Amino acid sequence: MRQIPRLFVDTQLHSGLQLSLPPAQTHYLATVLRLVPGAELRLLDNRTGEWAARIVAAGRRQVEVSVGAQIRPRETAPDLWLLAAPIRPERFQLTVEKATELGVALILPVLTERTQHLRLRPDKLLAHMVEAAEQCGRTALPDLAPALKLPALLAQWPDDRALIFADEEGGLPLAEACPPPPAAILIGPEGGFSPAERAMLVAHRAARRVSLGPRLLRADTAAVAALALWQALAPRTAGG
Ligand code: SAH
Repeated sequence: MRQIPRLFVDTQLHSGLQLSLPPAQTHYLATVLRLVPGAELRLLDNRTGEWAARIVAAGRRQVEVSVGAQIRPRETAPDLWLLAAPIRPERFQLTVEKATELGVALILPVLTERTQHLRLRPDKLLAHMVEAAEQCGRTALPDLAPALKLPALLAQWPDDRALIFADEEGGLPLAEACPPPPAAILIGPEGGFSPAERAMLVAHRAARRVSLGPRLLRADTAAVAALALWQALAPRTAGG
């Protein structure tokens, strides 16, 4: 049996609501899946959770759906941020996709001295996050924050949030220094952190320098490994 399609929409959902879907979703449902009136859907709004819905009219140019009962409320993501220096677009897309699957509250691109890929496409990144969330049953999307330079980020760092600085040159194993939420994981670009950045991070009051093991990892792998380790090791809280 075919899986019931799950789609994020921009409108706040409630029972009885009727809405027309935007062109990309219309194309997917009417032309790719060839769904007809009566077909079941699941709609998500990233605000209230997941809702049952049905197609009431399906044309190539317009698909209309009617919202039924709520299936689940919106989940609470762990209070973990991913701060990652942008890398090659396809690898950065993979990073945000995996972070969405693993569950983070916020993704913030950090511009460091050795960051080479400065032109970000937030719309594309968001599309990858939405697709990952739709496929993996998420009811919450991470917030995608505007990029910040590392010194600016550190200067406005919130007092209560631990900053896990993944350093390829060493540090305590994350298993021995895994802080509870609220926390953030910082991953450098392909070229790593500069000596000045490392010094600035080591001196920062919230930072903990951690190692992800003796092997050098690519930035996207390091992000996924650090998120998975934190998820497994951090003391649990609601949504953890
Ligand atoms: N300086 C590097 C590569 C940087 S890897 C070089 O020699 O080319 C990109 C980022 O992934 C690093 O800045 C770090 O945040 C993270 N990373 C990679 N391997 C790691 C490890 N073993 N421990 C901690 N962080 C690591």
